[in-house]
Amino acid sequence: MKNDLKRNRAWIEINLKHLEHNIHEIQRIIPKNTKIMAVVKANAYGHGLTKIAKKLNQIGIQDFAVATLEEAITLRKHDIAGNILILGYTDLSNIHKLLDYDLIQTILDYDYAQKINQMDLKEKLKVHVKINTGMNRIGENYQDIDHLIEIYQMKNLQILGTYSHMSASDSKSKEDISFTYKQIDYFFQTIHKLKTLGLDPGKIHIQASYGILNYPNLSCDYVRPGIIMYGVYSNTDDKTNIQLHLKPVLSLKAKISSVRKIQKGESVSYNRTFVAKQKMKIASVSIGYADGYPRNLSNQITKVLVHKKYAKIIGRICMDQLVLDVSNIDHIAAGDIVTLIGEKSMIRAEKIAYDSNTITNELLSRLGNRLPIISKR
Ligand SMILES: *Cc1c(COP(=O)(O)O)cnc(C)c1O
Repeated sequence: MKNDLKRNRAWIEINLKHLEHNIHEIQRIIPKNTKIMAVVKANAYGHGLTKIAKKLNQIGIQDFAVATLEEAITLRKHDIAGNILILGYTDLSNIHKLLDYDLIQTILDYDYAQKINQMDLKEKLKVHVKINTGMNRIGENYQDIDHLIEIYQMKNLQILGTYSHMSASDSKSKEDISFTYKQIDYFFQTIHKLKTLGLDPGKIHIQASYGILNYPNLSCDYVRPGIIMYGVYSNTDDKTNIQLHLKPVLSLKAKISSVRKIQKGESVSYNRTFVAKQKMKIASVSIGYADGYPRNLSNQITKVLVHKKYAKIIGRICMDQLVLDVSNIDHIAAGDIVTLIGEKSMIRAEKIAYDSNTITNELLSRLGNRLPIISKR
């Protein structure tokens, strides 16, 4: 038998051809002069930061967005070429690291800009200024034009871009759509004001995945896709204005560890939440909630794939293991491979996320860091 440490117990398999396909799908629908800034935060949504970024570099992507300084440094240490924008907070004590690694920091608000401007820096800090147009998370308010003007004149800042973020671009409700158009207006008005004053906003961007799919006619320098790059929608029922032909990049797999028969009346797993109504054949699988497979899928309708057949999860999902009803699956044995997230409809990430009351973004980004990530050959 082939010795394979990575396919030992449970693992993530990524299909980089699918990543390339999804990038081409996105490029097909964005304006010719708009570039993709690939969002690879949270370990590339659980797909493995460096493997994903390397592939993206190979197929010509030169702009990346991450959430943290650490993620950005990891990219640089793995020789990722191009621009790296940190979307979130970096502590002022680490500003010099941004310079050392040639990173771009988001200006979170006027206060943050001022504090950076009071520092003694060996060179100007590369930044994108974030404008708050209604998300009310980070960003300097679009109404505070005086503060914005000041920011664009600060001696310590080299302003390479200006951006905003939509709060409800995935929604189809009338109110949310008109709210989103307001955000877009506020953003472009602010850009216009700055330009009229002779200030350079640099590269502009406002669309994440659903901004691209529902507001495709905007013309910015960048779009910032995250979840759709990985080939999935956030929700199961997303009817977006533009539909892409996406291919999921990630599969979640694990091995069967033990197969047994139980009699009518016997219970399975913690707290005896499942009791057999008849004689059955069951199999335990070497994956659990500590690997990121949600515990609230216990005793739900959720299925997994074994030998091309669907099997139901029975009893409580444990930290490192779960149990399946495999009564109708022949020739099942320890060592067989189970697919828990993949391309087939019943195990699509959208379906698993829906069953566990969340979105694919959370499901995928919380997959456990003890899972090896393997590229599909
Ligand atoms: C996470 C994030 C994105 C990507 O979001 P998706 O919905 O996954 O495309 C884009 N922009 C910002 C500011 C983000 O925080």
